[in-house]
Amino acid sequence: MQRIDSITRNKLFDDLFTVDNRIYTMEKEILIFEEYIQEKGLKHSQKREYILRTFLNTKKHVSAEDLFHLIRQEYPEVGFTTVYRTLKLILSSGLGEMVDFDDGVRRYERKLGREYHAHFICTKCGSNFEVFDENIKNLSAQLSQKSNFTPQKHRLEIFGLCNECS
Ligand SMILES: [Zn+2]
Ligand SMILES: [Zn+2]
Repeated sequence: MQRIDSITRNKLFDDLFTVDNRIYTMEKEILIFEEYIQEKGLKHSQKREYILRTFLNTKKHVSAEDLFHLIRQEYPEVGFTTVYRTLKLILSSGLGEMVDFDDGVRRYERKLGREYHAHFICTKCGSNFEVFDENIKNLSAQLSQKSNFTPQKHRLEIFGLCNECS
């Protein structure tokens, strides 16, 4: 429950940084997912699509339990296993990935078009927010080139105290 509160609390940051991007990519993500489902030999399912849409709409960092609670509001009959399996499909289709805030909770976020952002995580209250900045991308590219390294995945997590806790 506490996690859902932190989602609401950080909504402002998300609205500032990701809303346009989200509207732009949502339909594209649905298409990618449907193709992936077909490749896997699975049938289209309305519930699965609803789970995907809900995941994309939460905009950030949900645990499987958070997602399950959100799904249950619309589909009370859906079990945790269905939500979890769909989440796994979302991850293996490349549309989502795990984020690690060092607190032992596995959270997930949507991925497409959002590669270069930093996570700021408060070590006292656990709140977090995201910042998108082209400089992160540029610096990553520069450093990789200098080191003859081909980056595949990028992560930037900054731990400290939020405004309210410092
Ligand atoms: Zn804090
Ligand atoms: Zn994020």
